[in-house]
Amino acid sequence: MLYVPGVTSVNAASNRSRRQAQLRANRERRELQKQYMRLAAKSEKFQRRLKAIEQKRDKPVQLLKEMYASSKIDSKRYARLLKRDKNVAIDLVVFGKGAGLKLASRYVSGQISEDQFETLKDEILGAPEAEKDVIIRTIKEQTERATEFLHKAQEFKSSTQCNSCGKQKKFFSPLRASHDLLLCKGCIMMLHDLTSFSGYQGHYYIVEPTEIIIDGKTNLTISIKEDYILDS
Ligand SMILES: [Zn+2]
Repeated sequence: MLYVPGVTSVNAASNRSRRQAQLRANRERRELQKQYMRLAAKSEKFQRRLKAIEQKRDKPVQLLKEMYASSKIDSKRYARLLKRDKNVAIDLVVFGKGAGLKLASRYVSGQISEDQFETLKDEILGAPEAEKDVIIRTIKEQTERATEFLHKAQEFKSSTQCNSCGKQKKFFSPLRASHDLLLCKGCIMMLHDLTSFSGYQGHYYIVEPTEIIIDGKTNLTISIKEDYILDS
């Protein structure tokens, strides 16, 4: 057998690099497992919180049923008050926490009037509503500005000038196609900024970053901030 010097060392080196790759893969797998466990725990916690909130949401009507069962109210009053339950939005329990639930219970069990309920409800939900308004207004303004940008550029017909700012096409600054338009680099970036909503992380709401679709609308999803539900 021919002895070839160097082969052993090459094998050793490739074994070493194989081992290193193996170790790296193990490390990555463990890290992924950890991430997965963290996410699963978070989701489980979230589901538990959600269930607890749904149970809380049912408390006012349970209270009313108990009042009827123990003959504290007659069937007529029971039927009338039962209709109030549909006016209790889950928002009141989520955002209003203890105060919201208490208010809902007092309302459904007939301790306060419709008007009193509405006034107090608005007080409790004022801050979350204001936050929601900010999100909707921001998206609306951005959509309007983007639509205006596109309409103006569409009127400017040219294959040698930027359809938005009129900058001449040059060898080192070519025009790029976007939304059926030819735009310079600066205007492409501006349009990109106008059509991307960076998302929102507030005290009550969370909105994932989203692309604004230019038909005057956007598919905006507002979700209740998970941290808020988890902390409450
Ligand atoms: Zn331009």
